[in-house]
Amino acid sequence: MSQLRAAAAAAGGLRRSGPRAAPLARRSRKGASLHKAPAPAPPYSRHLFSDPAEIEALRGDLLAWYDRCKRDLPWRTRAATEPDADRRAYAVWVSEIMLQQTQVATVIDYYNRWMQKWPTLQALAQASLEEVNELWAGLGYYSRGKRLQEAAKKVVSELAARMPRTAEDLQKLLPGVGRYTAGAIASISYGQATGVVDGNVIRVLCRLRCIGADSSSPAVIDRLWDMANALVDRNRPGDFNQALMELGATVCVPKAPLCGECPVKQHCRARLRKLLGKPTPVPDVEDCGAGGCPLCPPAAEPWDSSLGVTNFPRKAAKKQARVARAATCVLERRGCHRAPEYLIVQRPSSGLLAGLWEFPSLPQAQDLQEEKQREALAEHLQAWIGQPVVAGDLQLIGEVVHIFSHIHQTYVVYSLSVDGDVTLDPASSPSRWVTEEEFHASAVSTAMKKV
Ligand code: SF4
Repeated sequence: MSQLRAAAAAAGGLRRSGPRAAPLARRSRKGASLHKAPAPAPPYSRHLFSDPAEIEALRGDLLAWYDRCKRDLPWRTRAATEPDADRRAYAVWVSEIMLQQTQVATVIDYYNRWMQKWPTLQALAQASLEEVNELWAGLGYYSRGKRLQEAAKKVVSELAARMPRTAEDLQKLLPGVGRYTAGAIASISYGQATGVVDGNVIRVLCRLRCIGADSSSPAVIDRLWDMANALVDRNRPGDFNQALMELGATVCVPKAPLCGECPVKQHCRARLRKLLGKPTPVPDVEDCGAGGCPLCPPAAEPWDSSLGVTNFPRKAAKKQARVARAATCVLERRGCHRAPEYLIVQRPSSGLLAGLWEFPSLPQAQDLQEEKQREALAEHLQAWIGQPVVAGDLQLIGEVVHIFSHIHQTYVVYSLSVDGDVTLDPASSPSRWVTEEEFHASAVSTAMKKV
């Protein structure tokens, strides 16, 4: 057997040949023999992990690597050392919510400050939304902090401060906790043998098993969940899940994966495909039928040898971000001791950047002329400060672009200085004058800090 062929066999690309297992035979009461045909393998069976020995080997290889190489992170320390199950689950929960769409390096400082301020569910349940927003400012996706606090209140008031003990109950009972977060909390905090699927896991599994169909499609996601649940180590589920995610974050990275250092390379079909320079052997017609496999790359987008293992995963083209434009004004007055102060106003309690503070801003049509934009903004400011604002006094400073996850936002920035005592209209949404230092300590978005 050539080296590559041996590698193919080790990676599960080749099935052992030999007679098929005899169909199960049962005998009826009357003595007639009843033959039950085995259920036909699904068309995607070639992509699954079906060999128990291979699953066992993969678990062992991955966990041994994780024990040697895992990053030292504050939430891991808490999960490993906190004896109280509720506190442990809370600590994992906070980390999982913060890590959604956010880099580990960014989260560490926020996590430490959060846990110092609210070390328990009870402490968080007593916090105000304003405090939560202030601590969350700059982390993005602000509804996460709000939902976390709402859920903590619910656990304290309706569940006697006891965290649900299974992934199913966590997902069912806690607002903002989806399947992934529930699986992560249950496996890491309670040792429930349940898998997780996040962006890192999707990438690793798609490469391990050459899954090239749209990885954001429900059909593929369902199969990945099945796979994650089948693979998860029964004795160390939390470590196994973290190891799989750690592999995706540090070795099997999106653009230039370090296959040579990968602890599971011998199980990786994408790597094998790259080494062979042709599709991995398909020894049986029931494997991945010709063109009918829902997990294979679409026929119109075959393997691109210049991409190697990064042929996987594949996603349908992203929807174009919505383009939005707003005029905003940095309104300045002289406060105590003639120190400059700036007007900030609070956004509505729902929708984008809910409850955060910003300079008075007004959405604008894309093609609105500058003069009209200025007039509309002057009118808007007038409503806030209760005194006439002359459009011509607004000084155009420039434009600031900020990309939210689905919005390409441009702020057209103006400034204006006002004299005397400006009384804010209490009937309007909350507003206040702040110094520059107070502005940075307030619950303001990164976009406003750029402004
Ligand atoms: Fe990812 Fe390469 Fe490891 Fe395969 S061998 S899992 S592509 S890092």
